[in-house]
Amino acid sequence: MNERDSEAVASLLRARGYAMVEDEAQADIVLLNTCAVRDLAEQKAIGKAAYLNKRKRHNPRFLVGVLGCMAQNRGVDLLDRLPDLDLLVGTQKFHRVPDYLDNLLATQNGQGPRPKTLVDLDAEEGSQNEIRGHDSVDNAPQISAYVSIMQGCNMHCTFCIVPKTRGEERSRPMEEIVREAEELVAHGTREITLLGQIVTSYGRREFPMAGGKSPFVQLLERLHALPGLLRLRFTSPHPGGFKTDLIDAHRDLPKLGEYVHLPVQSGSDKILRAMNRPYTRDSYRRLVEKLRAAQPKLWFSTDIIVGFPGETDEDFAATRELFEEVGFEMAYLFKYSTRTGTPAAEMPDQIPADVAEARHKELMMILEKRSLARHRELIGTTQEVLAQEPAKRPAGRLLGRTRGYRKVFFDAPARLLGELVDVRITGATVAALAGEVVGKDDA
Ligand code: SAH
Repeated sequence: MNERDSEAVASLLRARGYAMVEDEAQADIVLLNTCAVRDLAEQKAIGKAAYLNKRKRHNPRFLVGVLGCMAQNRGVDLLDRLPDLDLLVGTQKFHRVPDYLDNLLATQNGQGPRPKTLVDLDAEEGSQNEIRGHDSVDNAPQISAYVSIMQGCNMHCTFCIVPKTRGEERSRPMEEIVREAEELVAHGTREITLLGQIVTSYGRREFPMAGGKSPFVQLLERLHALPGLLRLRFTSPHPGGFKTDLIDAHRDLPKLGEYVHLPVQSGSDKILRAMNRPYTRDSYRRLVEKLRAAQPKLWFSTDIIVGFPGETDEDFAATRELFEEVGFEMAYLFKYSTRTGTPAAEMPDQIPADVAEARHKELMMILEKRSLARHRELIGTTQEVLAQEPAKRPAGRLLGRTRGYRKVFFDAPARLLGELVDVRITGATVAALAGEVVGKDDA
């Protein structure tokens, strides 16, 4: 999400005559787009901003800005830690960055004292419609592109800072999204990932159901119909958004591939309730079964938080059991991070760090075993792979993804980038597969 927001800001800046440099040391202006989901991300961003501000000692014209979720979350209090910041811009004001930089540069050219930090953390109606510029349309083709379809979240999970940083759910008009996707495809994009804090809620306030289908599924169908688009993905969804229409979509829309991300967070009903997650261990399990019935080849990933306040050994055992039972091929495993201002921050029985650490490690080991085993099962099979980018090394290798969204490295000429290639899998690690293109002789 942040990458996408940054790309949209970069695209606006380029249109305004600013140029991107490869190397941070060469930059006259550095903007940090920040995350606030966990404390670690915030600490990293603060450290980085403080480090950058030191460059002002040698170059008073050097400008540093902090954008996005941490700016929104911490607000002007951040200036106690970072008094030299030039720009502080929240999540609904990304599109204002070019104006603000122009202003800062104009004041710099005058003589007076250093201007105060320029701050804009306000809400803005329609700001969800402003994340739309793309590198590929300005520049080189992007085989895989992100399209932001909505902003904000109304679920109020008790651990989560997102309702504060991103605000209420607001969706972009379907027509605009389709137009943006068409333009991307015309510029060489072959895979689109739809983005939002809770994509499955797309348009549920703004747009009506049609033929029993939610606005999100209607949007998937519209985009699925675009010729030239080979794959269609979305993140992040909420399990509560998987009604029959979206389950059926995984059967009926082949461009969705064979992959579903289904954040479960915990396998204990008690903890799920405390998290304000509106499903139970059993209803989650049934959802996985329904999805597997609709599309038997699905690969699953999930998000899990260990060490949520009140999580006993029993609660964790329930999570571990569900985790093993579903058999996720991939998972984002987090240690609970207290976010000031969320209900969970006030809950009793906060879990000691070493306990959370041990639980995290335990799930990590289960995951690694499972991923490796599932990857090894693919050895000898032929997979349809979208060739997405040159691998960093060695030269001549490409990186692509299977329909189950597993990474595959394979030797192939760059002209195959953007194409679906049949690749025979020859090797597997926990994180990726290796393979070779199936030649015409084999076909
Ligand atoms: N919309 C998704 C969440 C996306 S945020 C959903 O709730 O279904 C990505 C992940 O970060 C979350 O799924 C959660 O696992 C993790 N996360 C969010 N807040 C956290 C916190 N306070 N501590 C640790 N992990 C957190």
